[in-house]
Amino acid sequence: MKTIGVIGGMSWESSAEYYRLLNSQMKARLGGHHNARSLMATVDFAQIEALQRAGDWDALGVLMAQAARQLEQGGADIVLLATNTMHRVCASIESTISIPFLHIADPTGAALRAAGVTRVGLLGTRYTMEQDFYVGRLREVHGIEALVPEAHERDDVHHIIYDELCHGVVKDASRAVYQRVIDSLASRGAQGVILGCTEITLLIRAEDSALPVFDTTALHAQAAVDWALMG
Ligand code: GLU
Repeated sequence: MKTIGVIGGMSWESSAEYYRLLNSQMKARLGGHHNARSLMATVDFAQIEALQRAGDWDALGVLMAQAARQLEQGGADIVLLATNTMHRVCASIESTISIPFLHIADPTGAALRAAGVTRVGLLGTRYTMEQDFYVGRLREVHGIEALVPEAHERDDVHHIIYDELCHGVVKDASRAVYQRVIDSLASRGAQGVILGCTEITLLIRAEDSALPVFDTTALHAQAAVDWALMG
């Protein structure tokens, strides 16, 4: 079994979920007392969040590259970045390490294609929904069209992530907000919805959604476990 390296802390609420999923999925594959071999490099989210708001993606790229190097030096065989948003700077990571980097949009794109979904709603932070790094990768690498919520809906989705989910706060009222946004994406022709922020899995489960959900946290962790067990 290979060692999975995770850049975590964005937020730690979702990194804890990655840790749980990597281990439970490995145990499901191998049984007994098996769990995943892993390393996590945890950054301080206060610094990350401030740099995001300042739009200083160069500095963020440097920090992500640093964490990726720590993982490689510590013996990781692959690197996962446990946040969709920070994939904005994945090129900095890829150019600094010599082990593979598993982009979070790729297992998601593969799951969408396997389900025959070509038009999908995307929920995530403002950065993920409004910049092209994520929607563009889905389009160019996977041939999938991503629809994002309307401006006022994006505000709600974004604030619930940073003000509640990243603090481990899960509210029924916020779930209802997300459900309305999902309904409106469905009415615009979305055939499924990407939970494109690694904390949304704490709020929305498959049974909460009118559309089939594609949970980036679960899909990313599953792909890492599959990779760790390959040849
Ligand atoms: N975990 C989140 C994501 O998947 C948001 C936190 C962050 O800004 O990294 O995008």
